[in-house]
Amino acid sequence: MRSFLLLAALLAAAAPETRADDWRAWDITRDLTSQIGPRMTGSRKGKQAEDFAFRRLKSFGYDNVHFESFPVTAWERGSLTLTVAGQPVAAAALGGTPARADLDRPLVDMGNGGPEDYAAAPDKARGNIALVYAGLLPDTPASVRRQGRWEKVALAAQYGAAGIVLIGTDETIAIGSATKGEARAAIPAVVVAKSDGMKLKAQLAARPAKAGLRMRNRLYAGAARNVVATLPGTDLADEHIIFGGHLDSWDLATGALDNAAGAATVMDVARAFKAQGYRPRRTIQFVLYMGEEEGMLGSHAHAAGLEARGELPKLKYMFNTDMSLDPMAFNLWGFDADQGFYEALAKSVGAARPGFQGKIISRPMPGGDSEPYQLRGVPILYLNGDLTAQHHGCQHAACDRLDILTPAQVNNTSIVSALALKALADADRLPAQVLSGEALAAYKKANGL
Ligand SMILES: [Zn+2]
Repeated sequence: MRSFLLLAALLAAAAPETRADDWRAWDITRDLTSQIGPRMTGSRKGKQAEDFAFRRLKSFGYDNVHFESFPVTAWERGSLTLTVAGQPVAAAALGGTPARADLDRPLVDMGNGGPEDYAAAPDKARGNIALVYAGLLPDTPASVRRQGRWEKVALAAQYGAAGIVLIGTDETIAIGSATKGEARAAIPAVVVAKSDGMKLKAQLAARPAKAGLRMRNRLYAGAARNVVATLPGTDLADEHIIFGGHLDSWDLATGALDNAAGAATVMDVARAFKAQGYRPRRTIQFVLYMGEEEGMLGSHAHAAGLEARGELPKLKYMFNTDMSLDPMAFNLWGFDADQGFYEALAKSVGAARPGFQGKIISRPMPGGDSEPYQLRGVPILYLNGDLTAQHHGCQHAACDRLDILTPAQVNNTSIVSALALKALADADRLPAQVLSGEALAAYKKANGL
């Protein structure tokens, strides 16, 4: 029996999965989205998702799976009506917006809702409801930086607006958090589809109009849990690599792309490594984060925990998967990394996943669970997904459902991720080093952090 098991393990190790059909990320994505559905942080469904991940990782043979709990203010959507000049407009509240609002105020066009717009008319939004484009309008000078959703909400509040209506960048009503990490936004914030919002802009240009904004939401104190499983290293066991992705989602859909498929990839790679009997040189931590959508609460809690326990110096790399569907490019996140390492990796990935473009880019994107580590100088690897306009439009919207993904796309994410993770775990020398002191300060400056 023992020799049979040994032989089976050797065979498995010799033949790691190379076909999309060999992988299970699609199955896990389907189970997560159909058995649980939306996974809001701190909610009942969120807890179910945490339990789901815990049980799956255990079932793959990890006896060290554990939860890391952190406090959150859970937010639950209630009712909302938005009217402009008495006419109803379809809208959705952003996460973290206040429990109640009953506003009847003038709606004023604040352009992009950036610092420039408020500097040009500092009193225009005061006491009114600001109408703001969520992206950058076509006539915006190239020097203007695009502000994030929560920055636009915070700026409107800072300039005294009583509420804000964001105009989406496409026809889906895509929400997101009105704050970054704070429990509650200062003002009610809603989003409307692009064409509806542009009509409102035209309407305001012709004549002033009032908006009626009524919302009810529920906010309550709760907790959420990251789920962590560890695959111990061998000769470099004291060097740790995180392979992470967020498990939570928004509530308008089942968050299939953002980020059930990513969380499933983390679980699937953990599964495959156990099944292959793979023994990495470095220790790999598989981390499923909660609270990403509310401002990376889980990853900040995890990084702070490492720091508090004195374990941060062990962490040498963070590999994040979030909307990394069917990856085509390695994103080195602005770190000064060894190109040769990634070129060699691109070749081996290309052999296992025909059609892989193997592009190497190095541009951090704002937000995401890599942020707490990046800010502490830990090098980041991110895989850029092969995303269509439909995928982008469905992020945080009612269409982020399983039917916008295919099994091959999801399972390809496992193939590429597993190879990249093995390359990092087994490298003689990692392609980028942890930054500290002046080098970290220079990195932050270069990347606007
Ligand atoms: Zn995400």
